[in-house]
Amino acid sequence: MKQQINDLISKDVYTCASCGFCRFGCPVSKNVGFESQTARGRMYLLKKYLEGGLEYDKDLIESFYTCALCGNCNEICPTGVDYLEIVSHLRKQFVESGKLPESQKMLRDNLTKCGNPFAKDKEERGAWLPPQYREPKKSKYLYFVGCSSSYSSTRIAKSIMRILESVKFDFTVMGNLESCCGDPLFRMGEEDQANALMQKNIDVFDNLGVETIFASCAGCYKTLKNKFPKKYKVLHITQLLHQLVEQKTLVFKKELPNKIIYFDGCDIGRHCKTYEEPRELLKAIPGVELLEFDYNRDEAMCCGGPFAASDPNLAAKIAEDRVREAEEQGAEIIATACPTCMVNLREGARRIGSEIEVQDITLMLPKLIR
Ligand code: SF4
Ligand code: SF4
Repeated sequence: MKQQINDLISKDVYTCASCGFCRFGCPVSKNVGFESQTARGRMYLLKKYLEGGLEYDKDLIESFYTCALCGNCNEICPTGVDYLEIVSHLRKQFVESGKLPESQKMLRDNLTKCGNPFAKDKEERGAWLPPQYREPKKSKYLYFVGCSSSYSSTRIAKSIMRILESVKFDFTVMGNLESCCGDPLFRMGEEDQANALMQKNIDVFDNLGVETIFASCAGCYKTLKNKFPKKYKVLHITQLLHQLVEQKTLVFKKELPNKIIYFDGCDIGRHCKTYEEPRELLKAIPGVELLEFDYNRDEAMCCGGPFAASDPNLAAKIAEDRVREAEEQGAEIIATACPTCMVNLREGARRIGSEIEVQDITLMLPKLIR
């Protein structure tokens, strides 16, 4: 495997022109400032490694984890260096050789022991569910709630249930049978452990006869769409709600007279190319004036959410930048399509004393349909 990875690295490492364009949209580069933590810096270090002047020591390995895998550098690179591919292969190699950095181990252990990143009891996962959802039932449609909305942002999940109940949309949830989708493990290179969680979920999907899965977390959506078997149709909740609006099944009865800016989270955006449905859903609300960040869609900048567990200060510093940019556009509300983005941007707003509101789209809707 090591030789295969070296061959893969070598192609891109010697393609890199050292132009440094990748630093522009890199949230880490701006807030940490070390060249070793940019795509260009890592290309340089890998060149040294391939030429025999460097070993993968503790610090070098750690630097490959100080990356949000946001993908902005991949989009911007004029020579087409596939930086994300390199880092994901390297992380797998570090795991295989027992070199997962200390900063990742607690998260890995929580996920493998408890099936969630928070080390919470598996039996508590569905504790918030209204009685009618406690027992999973056979259904073609499954709402994959995800760890954040099961354990902390339960309001998002309850809102979604309220919206779908209002239009008599039939679906099921897995409750305590749901496990993490595996995204954090895939990201850190723990492929085998991630696949084990994925298989647990697949077994339940198949027992319930699930055909279409919708998720409210952008990370779950990306993982379900890109890693799970293609036999399942996977939607983000904003896509499903947009479909219901298009069919005139879901109708907004009240106005929301606000300037709203939509934040393209990296997982729903660059990694899944789902850009328009969340915007169309917001535009369908009477009274909404939809604004845009200067850098949006493929060029959107990460909110820092991927660092929320490993480096909360860095995560919040990055979020502060996004909040300031939203304020510069005159936004009153930042609308997200991911609980992690919402929580992290709220923290960024709190730290700079911003009055801007940060809301997941799904939280805005229940009061508009009554
Ligand atoms: S943008 Fe691409 S070519 Fe330029 S330094 Fe970064 S990785 Fe290298
Ligand atoms: S993936 Fe994102 S965080 Fe990582 S180097 Fe590229 S731009 Fe920076």
